[in-house]
Amino acid sequence: MKQKRFILPESEIPTRWYNIQADMLNKPLPMLNPSTREPLKAEDLFPIFNEECARQEVNQTDAWIDIPEEVREKYTYYRSTPLVRAYGLEEALGTPAHIYFKNESVSPVGSHKLNSALAQAYYCKKQGVKNVTTETGAGQWGAALSYATKIFGLECAVYQVKISYEQKPYRRSIMQVFGAQVTPSPSMSTRAGKDILTINPNYQGSLGTAISEAVELAMMTPDCKYALGSVMNHVALHQTVIGLEAEKQMEMAGEYPDIVIACFGGGSNFSGISFPFMRHTILEGKKTRFIAAEPVSCPKLTKGKFEYDFGDEAGYTPLLAMFTLGHKFQPALIHAGGLRYHGAGVIVSQLMKDGYMEAVDIAQLDSFKAGCLFAKAEGIIPAPESCHAIAATIDEALKCKETGEEKVILFNLSGHGLVDMSAYDQYLAGALV
Ligand SMILES: *Cc1c(COP(=O)(O)O)cnc(C)c1O
Repeated sequence: MKQKRFILPESEIPTRWYNIQADMLNKPLPMLNPSTREPLKAEDLFPIFNEECARQEVNQTDAWIDIPEEVREKYTYYRSTPLVRAYGLEEALGTPAHIYFKNESVSPVGSHKLNSALAQAYYCKKQGVKNVTTETGAGQWGAALSYATKIFGLECAVYQVKISYEQKPYRRSIMQVFGAQVTPSPSMSTRAGKDILTINPNYQGSLGTAISEAVELAMMTPDCKYALGSVMNHVALHQTVIGLEAEKQMEMAGEYPDIVIACFGGGSNFSGISFPFMRHTILEGKKTRFIAAEPVSCPKLTKGKFEYDFGDEAGYTPLLAMFTLGHKFQPALIHAGGLRYHGAGVIVSQLMKDGYMEAVDIAQLDSFKAGCLFAKAEGIIPAPESCHAIAATIDEALKCKETGEEKVILFNLSGHGLVDMSAYDQYLAGALV
């Protein structure tokens, strides 16, 4: 009988995250203070982030970092997530490739984002923080943090990009059900928001702007810390639980991936699925291709420049050495809100620069076409973001069909699209560009 689904016993759920920084030959460049251009230390981040995440951010020496027991316990409520052999998709494509996906959509909030939200909320609580603030685009990160803060008894304030607040009302409702306070961004509640609205009263918002607002709130409010759902090194670290599980599950399947694919917003789900496998590329010279699938409308990896830039629109964050389209870049209003970010994480950026990974740009229509094909073949409606990974996977699987190669392709299904059906409606009605 064909085995389709691979699950780990609870004892095999990782006890440590993998910190790729320790193994990288060229270390990621340090964050810089924008006014002095001095490298930042963990302590410099304490006013904004919880202290443990600040330390993890700059840790370039410990390859393995213990997952706190309180966090691992919460992981066991939904992990391991299934590794699935996509027989249905293989058949639909007529490809000799073996396609696997790691299904992060089974988390309580429907995406991989909870893996880091739980860790960040826990560290905040442990440090005595009372309020956590953040930004969210499509709402997945906001939903994850709203739930994680609720579990650990903290208050949560979320700035949601205005276009998504209006286009995706159900994600806002989800956050509100978990008890979070949700504000559309740009708002008049911060200086950053007011400044932008003064120049452009109809501005529909961006992640960069929402970050500025949340950071400002964290700096102005006692007992309040900021939490970020992507881009940062500590977020990539927490997400490696995905790839560490996948590594064991691929072993159960008796295979090792030739190609690993994930969609790319700031890089957290890509890092999560890739880094544990890339470890073998760095340390043992294993030949695996790692492909980041980004939207044509926000092509930081293929068209951006590697340089120091701000992480947010207003320029409140430290300077980050990354592939960026410039912090003033305003991406088109695609439905994959989670991919509308101008930059890439500094670890991924260095790995890209050093040739460990590649990137492809996927057009919005192609992403939905791929998502619908996947849904029919596998019965899961993917998040608009995840559709980009599926489109890139299909491209590689069709190349295998031409050459007859039986490559093993693993992609990360970062989330489901059940709260994004208005986007599918528009696609089916031919109303998308
Ligand atoms: C946020 C999000 C993304 C993009 O963020 P990354 O940090 O690049 O992973 C992709 N997929 C889903 C479902 C998301 O919620």
